[in-house]
Amino acid sequence: MLPENGRPAADVLAEIDRLTEADLPVRGGKVTAYVYDTGLPEVHETAARAYLRMLEVNGLDPTAFPSIVELERQVVGAVAQRLGGDAATPGIFTSGGTESIMLAVKAARDARPVEGGRPQLVVPVTAHPAFHKAAHYLGLEPVAVPVDPATFRADPAAAAAAITDRTVLVVVSAPSYPQGVVDPVAEIAAAAAARGVPCHVDACVGGWLLPWMREAGAAVPPFDLSVPGVTSLSCDLHKYGYAPKGASVLLFADEAMRRRAYFASADWPGYTVINATVQSSKGAGPLGGAWATMQALGASGYRALAADALRATRRLIDGVASIPGLRVLGSPDAALVAVAAEPPLDVFVLSDEARRRGWFIQPQLSYAGIPANVHLTLTGVSLAGVDELLKVLAESAGAARAAGAPQVPDGLVEALLALDLDTVDDAGFAGLLASVGVSLNGGGQPDMAVVNTVLDALPPRTREALLVRFLSVLYRPSSTGSAG
Ligand SMILES: *Cc1c(COP(=O)(O)O)cnc(C)c1O
Repeated sequence: MLPENGRPAADVLAEIDRLTEADLPVRGGKVTAYVYDTGLPEVHETAARAYLRMLEVNGLDPTAFPSIVELERQVVGAVAQRLGGDAATPGIFTSGGTESIMLAVKAARDARPVEGGRPQLVVPVTAHPAFHKAAHYLGLEPVAVPVDPATFRADPAAAAAAITDRTVLVVVSAPSYPQGVVDPVAEIAAAAAARGVPCHVDACVGGWLLPWMREAGAAVPPFDLSVPGVTSLSCDLHKYGYAPKGASVLLFADEAMRRRAYFASADWPGYTVINATVQSSKGAGPLGGAWATMQALGASGYRALAADALRATRRLIDGVASIPGLRVLGSPDAALVAVAAEPPLDVFVLSDEARRRGWFIQPQLSYAGIPANVHLTLTGVSLAGVDELLKVLAESAGAARAAGAPQVPDGLVEALLALDLDTVDDAGFAGLLASVGVSLNGGGQPDMAVVNTVLDALPPRTREALLVRFLSVLYRPSSTGSAG
């Protein structure tokens, strides 16, 4: 609530500290998703200080704040040079992978007006939902491309066959997030180019890892702007760039395509609006933080972190092979690993068991024939903890095997399938959640296995509808009103 009178800084900050106590730790490597730790506190400290220096600078107007042009040029140039471009490669610094993807899709849409229906976006089933979000926001129709059931790489023949006269963009991932494998970029980009269609490489998660892993000796297939037919590429610096959140780079093969991502409006009597990104007014903190992180680490710093992540990944893959009931999906190309389980070992129970042991391991639902699994993103700091991680995985697997599959209340899945959510308000939905043991008010660690099992049994559209309701209930005013 807003206090009538201002509070002292110590008081305000103490409250922030108290509120973040229940959060997952952002350092230490025990959270194998969401956060990227170098294990080098001084690097993060430098980034934080640079971020604060740029905090109040407004990225809305590069003529008013020329520092942002120079910083962005340097960041984009550094990324382009490692990803098949050069100092002259056009790019845009954005707030994250989703915004980079949104702009790549907008540029492609505006570059190629189509007739006779909605423009189409060809996307492998393993591509990030940001492409579905972009399609939704920008009025495109996503066309799904299957992946090979053994390798989880997009099927090039199916991608080629999915291209029509309405296709404005073909997407590949390097790597895809779910199984960490690189799609056949060269084959698919060539098929797109043969039809005169642009091809975007989603290297959001891998763009700032794969080049360094390659230098550390890993076999990395060609995936960047140097591949013929690739017209744009996204690379998140707030992932393996280890920059504070809010940092991604979108590269274009040519400047005309970049201009299609821009937006200008003179349709009002106020200041002229010309935006490179979705956001208009925006803090320059993320740009300063990303630039400073790159300066603080340098090429040798990234190389060392990638070598460590690579070694940690190999140890994890070897170790998982000796845990009964667990198997790695496909053959990961980066430092992202998906682990599936054989019954009676249930991956959702495994995830909860690991959480009880102090580790967050992300559950992934089954989709498009790919089994449910848990996902681990390893970073530079993971090497130091990989033996403990394997021990926790083995213990959690043992406990999960003993526990068996989660008990879903009889008839719940059928009831949810039949439920007309439009007839239930948020309070009613909260009651429904409570009836299956999901409390949104209590602290502690929720047992998510039942929830995940139920979601896993439902089709994607039903999952989505339930998730939207869940979010709406989570943010209900009454559930936070008691704070403070
Ligand atoms: C993280 C990610 C994105 C989306 O990025 P955000 O920064 O979360 O918006 C897109 N694609 C892939 C492969 C990713 O891993």
